[in-house]
Amino acid sequence: MIERRGEVRQESLDMIYSFIRRAIKERATDVHWEPYVESGKPEMVIRFRIDGMLKDMERFSEDKTRLGSVVNAIKIMASMDPTQKRFEQDGRFTVSIDNVDYDIRISAMPTILGEKIVMRLMDRKRYCMSLADLGMSKEVLDIVNPIIYKPEGFVIISGPTGSGKTTSLYSILQHIYSRDKNICTIEDPVEVKFVGINQIQVDHDFGMTFVKGLRAIMRQDPNVIAVGEMRDAETVRTALQAALVGAMVFSTVHAKDAINTIVRLLDMGVEPFFISTALTGIVSQRLLRLVCKICKGKGCMQCANTGFRRRTGLFEVLKINDIIRQLILRRASADELRAAAAEQGMLSFATSVEPLIAQGVTTREEIDRILAVE
Ligand SMILES: [Zn+2]
Repeated sequence: MIERRGEVRQESLDMIYSFIRRAIKERATDVHWEPYVESGKPEMVIRFRIDGMLKDMERFSEDKTRLGSVVNAIKIMASMDPTQKRFEQDGRFTVSIDNVDYDIRISAMPTILGEKIVMRLMDRKRYCMSLADLGMSKEVLDIVNPIIYKPEGFVIISGPTGSGKTTSLYSILQHIYSRDKNICTIEDPVEVKFVGINQIQVDHDFGMTFVKGLRAIMRQDPNVIAVGEMRDAETVRTALQAALVGAMVFSTVHAKDAINTIVRLLDMGVEPFFISTALTGIVSQRLLRLVCKICKGKGCMQCANTGFRRRTGLFEVLKINDIIRQLILRRASADELRAAAAEQGMLSFATSVEPLIAQGVTTREEIDRILAVE
């Protein structure tokens, strides 16, 4: 069941495997194995992240579970050095459960109480969703579809950490995939491997940066390029250049909404001319918790008494037109841009949420909560 066994205790393996199985069943995205001390007694707590929220699943006293041997086993399975406990390490392994392969990414970090492990469960299905399943409404799709199918252009997906940007990026690539296109990505890290897509992993040890990878891709006769995340001006400039010489480029930026995405690029030091010439659209997003359908939000076993179960994407889409281009060119303020975008009919978060509240699928408090995240 688990590909790499190495020198590990069966008892530890059974425990790891049972929590992974349980995490998959409960739709958890992350499993935390955390040293924990309360009133001087060493323990280990296992927490799952479900629908974006961490939840304590179980707590063990250390002698019962032999925390060290579990951590050791996870590190061996993930091809990490188990003897090295003083610095952070990362690795990955694959498990097959009910004939589905799950890539599991592992991070180990030394805390003052001992090593803490976080497992990220990479469920390939989660990254190949239809755009409608991501939560894109007909109104959103009417704007998004014409932009992403163009032979050239530049589309940015923005949002805070954990807003589902990578899922959207991968799903869009799957959506526009065809054998007559050369699709290349440069990612840090490659989260999920796809058939028929040329994925490059950023590797600082070998000098493979976003910029270097992008320049290499541009010499590879590309049609579609995806840049994992743009964090600096040089990466943005290079990606914009790729769009200007005739590729369709997709990337993600950490920004709270569509207008702030433009402001963020300008603040990075990217020339307004570059942005206004190449940028064609911005999709900004959040993941919104849905009211539990079983208990109608009162709280039940199925939703762990939170009143919420499952999530959907909430989107804001800005198509860049000549009016917005002119404003970018003269470095207009966020307020000016926002007013013009509203006038041009930008589908904003504010307009997207109204039908959801009217239908009772989420709550005003949940929307306020996710929109406050920057
Ligand atoms: Zn419920």
